[in-house]
Amino acid sequence: MSGRAVFLDRDDTIIRDRHYLADPDGVELMPGAAEAIRLLNRHHIPAIVVTNQSGIARGLFDEHRLELIHQRLTELLAAHNAVLDAIYYCPHHPHGSVERYSIACTCRKPEPGLLMKAARDFGLDLAGCYMVGDKPEDMETIRRVRGKGVLIEGESTEQTEPAGHDHRMQNLFEAVQWILKDMKE
Ligand SMILES: [Mg+2]
Ligand SMILES: [Zn+2]
Repeated sequence: MSGRAVFLDRDDTIIRDRHYLADPDGVELMPGAAEAIRLLNRHHIPAIVVTNQSGIARGLFDEHRLELIHQRLTELLAAHNAVLDAIYYCPHHPHGSVERYSIACTCRKPEPGLLMKAARDFGLDLAGCYMVGDKPEDMETIRRVRGKGVLIEGESTEQTEPAGHDHRMQNLFEAVQWILKDMKE
């Protein structure tokens, strides 16, 4: 299974979407998320978060604050013996209020920059990778590198129909179960 990974959106995929979450105490795991990540750990498949955090460009929180949120997420998962292999985030937005983050970058999903960085760090073949997320942008991100997307139902996003070859599951746990089966084929 070397060269493969499962990319995970963060908000409304692993934790509840709090709309520009800036408080570590607001981190709350989605049902089954820890179990899903633990399942990937057991199969030695890297579980890699890729998340847009334009709240940084918008001046709502800074990178240190985001680090604290991700520490909290890591702790909550550790309580379930689940480990994320890496967290990559895009702090940018083309129309932010903090100048140095206010750019049209190549890492804000659906741009695949974060996936390409992970591919270099982990030695991945992106065409053999998967992405689980609750938004069409997540599906577009993995499509651009020819991997497979699994769209799940977020709690706060309106329902969108999967496009083209995306697969549709209820939640992250179901998505990971499907991915593990698909990897064997
Ligand atoms: Mg999301
Ligand atoms: Zn970016």
